[in-house]
Amino acid sequence: MKARLRSATAVLICLVCATAAAAAPDVTVVPERPRVGDVVFMALSPEAELLRAACSWGGKSYRFLASGNVYELVLPVSLTTQPGAYRATLYWKYIDGRMGKRMVPIQVEPREFGVQHLRLSRRQEACYSAPETKREKRLIGAALDRVTSDRWWMGSFVMPVEGRVSTGFGMQRYINGRLAYRHRGIDIAAPEGTPVQVAADGVVSLADDSFVLHGQTVLVDHGHGVSTLYIHLSEIAVTEGQTVTRGEMLGRVGATGVATGPHLHFGVYAYHRPVDPLFWMSLPER
Ligand SMILES: [Zn+2]
Repeated sequence: MKARLRSATAVLICLVCATAAAAAPDVTVVPERPRVGDVVFMALSPEAELLRAACSWGGKSYRFLASGNVYELVLPVSLTTQPGAYRATLYWKYIDGRMGKRMVPIQVEPREFGVQHLRLSRRQEACYSAPETKREKRLIGAALDRVTSDRWWMGSFVMPVEGRVSTGFGMQRYINGRLAYRHRGIDIAAPEGTPVQVAADGVVSLADDSFVLHGQTVLVDHGHGVSTLYIHLSEIAVTEGQTVTRGEMLGRVGATGVATGPHLHFGVYAYHRPVDPLFWMSLPER
């Protein structure tokens, strides 16, 4: 009898193990071979509600956010990532206490970014480090830190203005012969006054016409740690806290702040990391 009980207990334990093993959520990773400056869209489809789920990668932990029955994460492959083979670690915990983890391979592909030399007046160059720019950098930084649990964007972003990309993403920019910074967005050349449209649905997290370096600036929070930045505007047509939809006019192209001529500097950020705006222009509709 005891032996039968023992074997029955063993079967029960095995069934429990099998149930626990089956509890691993389905994992989707797109793309599996991102380039430096892209993002990786991750999704967990668990069998029940999760208490929490996170991804550890590049020395940082990112929390998955619920979107219906799926848990999503937009993982930035920042400009400072070296190309190569990586493994991200996913962790999850169900409401009932069951936990698990899984390693996910991510192959980061290299890419060329190019170099750009700019001539600026001494007054313009001094603007980059002027004390009065601290406030605008702090305000922009705070807006880029926002991680909203709602995801408002769906599918592909639209180009905010029609025009030629005059400076690409990630270029090493030299100002007056000195390496100044990596270009954290794209510059789109367009005539002064050209309407600028919102790239995707979201909420205006910053609208300020007083910045001396960035000029008239708008930031839109799209949710799940993703924001877009529009600077050097000649006019702002939205206010902070306003809900905006893809294609809606947010302002007009200008040359305010430090700019060599009328253009839109457009940036896309994921978890405060600048990522390639053009990557977002060809996403599948979701
Ligand atoms: Zn720019």
